[in-house]
Amino acid sequence: MIIRPKIRGFICITAHPEGCEKNVQRQIDYVKSREEIARTPKKILLIGSSTGYGLASRIVASFGCKADTVGVYFERPEMDGKPASAGFYNARALDKFSREEGRLSESVNGDAFSDDIKRKTIALIREKLGKIDGVIYSLASPRRTDPLSGETYKSVLKPIGSAFSGKTVNTDTEQILEISIDPATDGEIEATRKVMGGEDWERWIDQLLAADVLAEDVQTCAYSYIGPEVTWPIYAHGTIGKAKDHLEQSAKIIQNKLKNLGGKAAISVNKAVVTQASSAIPVVPLYNSVLFKIMKQRGTHEGCIEQMYRLFSSNFDGNRDEQGRIRLDNLEMDGGVQREVKEIWAKISTENLREFSDFEGYCQDFLHLFGFNLPGVDYEKEVEIS
Ligand code: NAD
Repeated sequence: MIIRPKIRGFICITAHPEGCEKNVQRQIDYVKSREEIARTPKKILLIGSSTGYGLASRIVASFGCKADTVGVYFERPEMDGKPASAGFYNARALDKFSREEGRLSESVNGDAFSDDIKRKTIALIREKLGKIDGVIYSLASPRRTDPLSGETYKSVLKPIGSAFSGKTVNTDTEQILEISIDPATDGEIEATRKVMGGEDWERWIDQLLAADVLAEDVQTCAYSYIGPEVTWPIYAHGTIGKAKDHLEQSAKIIQNKLKNLGGKAAISVNKAVVTQASSAIPVVPLYNSVLFKIMKQRGTHEGCIEQMYRLFSSNFDGNRDEQGRIRLDNLEMDGGVQREVKEIWAKISTENLREFSDFEGYCQDFLHLFGFNLPGVDYEKEVEIS
């Protein structure tokens, strides 16, 4: 079949296998163009490793640190003649490329929130790696079933306390609209914490500790975002921000649990990039379009792979803020960059969207997530789907 992008709102429901492979290859090429990373973990578990920041982390781990990796993700395989999800193709490509270079690269496709997948992953670690010295937690999910209660929680992207009105872009029609979002209920705040807070990260660490598969000096890191004022009502001060506060608290609890091993738990505050998760957040696609224009003009723009190369090459340290968080978002949060964002934000409209922002770059990044619009891929060629 010929696979074309089928975009439904903030998601593309098709993905191109060769394009996804090319997308992975491009990130590997970037890492190979940089220096090898010597002083980092060499046996790493990555939870949420098939797209976005988790995929880039795994690429840096495998090709920058020459580490053996186990990746956990939840992706749809090819079925009934329909293409798989992009993350499925990404993970397959990564396993292939890593193994070609003699690195161990094992994948577990299933619900990382479940104890069943934790058990399977731990058994695989024990069999293939013995002990691991790195755990990256990069899940972004709309729902989670709590393995203890069996209850399923759904996360929401809403403000807290009062309604939010602000600008956003309809990426289909290229129109700038005012959106209004009612504040979350207490139940929604709690549900978002259950999904995107640190409960599951802690549960992973507990089970890895109990199984005695964590090595001395193990390092674990989870990702967060803060961003500028224009996104605060919907992000930092909203339901997702509250969940991230919980994630930060969990880092402290986990650090304590790893004390006997001399281990460390860190939060890395990453830059805003285009991923499947971030495309779903109101306001963020417009903010990214504006931000990318400014950062590209200044030569400071980064994507997932550049960010994760920086994180791993700092050995999960460097540039910490007062709360001890690693600030990879320093170039995004630069005062000059954010002043420009504010100026443009005030005047951006449907008419001047492409003049004042890098909407083109945003759309390009979005299509790349699903393996489309990549140079060197023949999109007119028939693809065999099982
Ligand atoms: P993403 O949507 O690209 O990746 C999510 C990953 O989680 C995928 O590998 C997916 O398969 C996996 N996943 C989802 N549900 C799962 C489940 N039940 N079981 C197993 N795997 C599951 O998201 P992303 O934007 O890379 O986000 C990763 C982390 O980075 C999140 O914590 C996010 O808040 C953080 N972050 C993102 C940005 C950004 O701009 N995108 C910025 C800063 C921090």
